[in-house]
Amino acid sequence: MSRWSRRQWMTAVGAGAVAASTEVDVSGQFGEQRAEATKGLLPLVEYEPKSMLTVPESKIEKSRFPVIDIHTHLSWSPGFSDQAPGGGKMSPTATVDEILQVMDRRNLKMLVNLTGGSGTCLDQALDYFHKPHSDRFLVFTEPSWWNIKQSNYPQWQADELGKARQKGARGLKVLKTLGLYLRENVTTGDLIKVDDKRFDPMWEAAGANKMPVLIHVSDPEAFFLPIDRFNERYEELHAHPDWSFHGNFPSNKEVHEARNRVVERHPKTQFILAHVGDSENLGWVSEWLDKYPNMNVEFGARIGELGRQPRTSHKFFEKYQDRILFGTDAVPHGDEYPQQVYGDALYQIYYRFLETEDEYFDYSPARVPPQGRWRIYGVGLPETILRKIYHDNAARLLGL
Ligand SMILES: [Zn+2]
Repeated sequence: MSRWSRRQWMTAVGAGAVAASTEVDVSGQFGEQRAEATKGLLPLVEYEPKSMLTVPESKIEKSRFPVIDIHTHLSWSPGFSDQAPGGGKMSPTATVDEILQVMDRRNLKMLVNLTGGSGTCLDQALDYFHKPHSDRFLVFTEPSWWNIKQSNYPQWQADELGKARQKGARGLKVLKTLGLYLRENVTTGDLIKVDDKRFDPMWEAAGANKMPVLIHVSDPEAFFLPIDRFNERYEELHAHPDWSFHGNFPSNKEVHEARNRVVERHPKTQFILAHVGDSENLGWVSEWLDKYPNMNVEFGARIGELGRQPRTSHKFFEKYQDRILFGTDAVPHGDEYPQQVYGDALYQIYYRFLETEDEYFDYSPARVPPQGRWRIYGVGLPETILRKIYHDNAARLLGL
């Protein structure tokens, strides 16, 4: 209590509760009460509480088993609306050498660079990462959305996938572009649904070419709600207002259900849902996993969700131990998203979450928890499960 007396704190908390419970505007009697109560209150952005718990703090330098990280972004290709027939130019997010140093220090056997793009961009990504280090880097290809208007698009896209596999691409990555942004005229017109039949040949070709589909649809549920004081991701959405899907977008439920229909229609294709599908509702994800044997999940950028429900998560890891893959969504130099910055600290947090029963620690190497103001608990998985999640499940789906 340095700058504040105990009485000031109590007053602020008490009066704040009255104002919130009565749901009034900052006008009238309660408004005045709140204005008085919040006078001189520390702005949220400056609040950085340090935990006073004295509990074990494990530092894990290397994972218990070699890791395949199924979800990284080591390069970007031009965006879906850039009209780049043929693929455009690949931009690596770091040098291979820089990436390998972290891999060696943290027991990372292999990284899967999902955003390999297509056409010439894919060629460049394969040449840069995969060909010189085929045992350390795999590259996925992406659909060429800008060609959607071509009358032969469905079969053309399926054939492109086969060609990409021939060149060395090992899977297909689908960004949330599909379902939330892609429209009939690419950027204008009606939104194209995730289960649009035009993509059926592509999903089939992925299965035929033994290319798992890592698909990201929707986002945290709070992204579909107003950015207001009740939103648990208020600061994250305030920092990235373009991440909000509140208003003119389909609902979280609609998008997930459309994706499930795709998974159901293509039983010979292996799907890996990015970000656990819906990491806030593991009961719902469990229903899907029980229903669709060709569905798998990875947990990139979602240990913040799994780690704040450690008992539910532990049961989930136990039950679906053959269908959960290790992913981080790591982006070298992705400084705007501290929970995803590729580096030593990121992997140590993931290993701590999976391997220990440590309590109440940060899910991200950041000054303030960037996705929401909470901390996480380790799930302390046994070796048999760790081995599958770190390595074996990915190796099986990738045909290694
Ligand atoms: Zn990602």
